[in-house]
Amino acid sequence: MREFAKAFYRSRAWKDCRAAYAKSVGGLCETCLKAGLYVPGKVVHHRTALTPDNIHDPTVTLSWSNLKLVCQDCHAREHKGKDRYWFDDDGVVHPR
Ligand SMILES: [Zn+2]
Ligand SMILES: [Zn+2]
Repeated sequence: MREFAKAFYRSRAWKDCRAAYAKSVGGLCETCLKAGLYVPGKVVHHRTALTPDNIHDPTVTLSWSNLKLVCQDCHAREHKGKDRYWFDDDGVVHPR
């Protein structure tokens, strides 16, 4: 269980960052959009995965260049095979 990230996902800084980022990309899944599909984005994904070492580094956790708005399906795909667990956009941990 990646407890280290829970406080971060519940923080005001992340919630504000996530909302502003999602708005900046128009609220659509960026992966689906590349395929010409208009699907509402549900999860703001970190391109560089959060770890206990970078969780307090805002250039990783809150930098827009490290974020990607995706739908649930695309988010699951982003993490497939890479992580044992992933977080939804409320910081809820899901095993895979
Ligand atoms: Zn998608
Ligand atoms: Zn993710």
